Amino acid sequence: VGIQLTILGSGSSGNCALVESDRTKILVDAGLSCRQIGERLAVLGKNVAALDAILLTHEHSDHARGLKRLCASCQIPVFANKLTAEALVSDTEFGPNGDVSWRIFTTGHAFSVGDFEVEPFSVPHDAQDPVGFVLSHAERRITFLTDLGHATKLVIERARNADVLVLEANHDVKMLQDDCHRPWSLKQRILSRHGHLSNEAAAALAETVTTERLQHIFLAHLSRDCNRPQLARDAVATKLDRLGAQHIALTVAAQDELTPTLSL
Ligand SMILES: [Zn+2]
Ligand SMILES: [Zn+2]
Repeated sequence: VGIQLTILGSGSSGNCALVESDRTKILVDAGLSCRQIGERLAVLGKNVAALDAILLTHEHSDHARGLKRLCASCQIPVFANKLTAEALVSDTEFGPNGDVSWRIFTTGHAFSVGDFEVEPFSVPHDAQDPVGFVLSHAERRITFLTDLGHATKLVIERARNADVLVLEANHDVKMLQDDCHRPWSLKQRILSRHGHLSNEAAAALAETVTTERLQHIFLAHLSRDCNRPQLARDAVATKLDRLGAQHIALTVAAQDELTPTLSL
């Protein structure tokens, strides 16, 4: 087995995924509580102490909620760019954190974590310096692409040639506009070019980056109030069907449960 991927939980209120090789275990984001992360790793027969690294996409709490306690319980290196780390350190809720072993990377520059090469790339989102990640090992590539308002050229380039794509399908535009009880300003934020990808935008991006190589798309970061798993799945499946891309499997990640582990 080259790489295994399990999404421990994903949605507007918390995001965390586990990527593993035979000898390296990496968490991508730590947006569930420390306890939940521990419990979900236990479902897989694993524990927090076995983690080699945490990678952070950006400082929003749905990506960093569990970080502080996780790091207090064991010294896991935390990889983030400078602005993300600074935003967390200066966040009063997060508090001062001498316990976090920061490893600062530069957006756009690849680095290694154990078996993996990690390539952080810029995404358009309303955070200090938000990134997506390409993780590769043994000629397999996973691209993490959540929390972005629109697909830039760079995003499309990084998402293409992946074996697996973790792709944001945040909201159904109609649900967000009509039914969803959110203040107007927040709706504007979500819909903006630095907000979140709608189902429709996710479907268009999936269509753009589909190759023969792409074998699995995980739809992630669904809004609990302004989306339904079936709507997200249908939007993307319709596009893929139209392309004749029957070789691509679709999984919709959930907030409260783990996805099945994918081995590639
Ligand atoms: Zn965010
Ligand atoms: Zn988020």
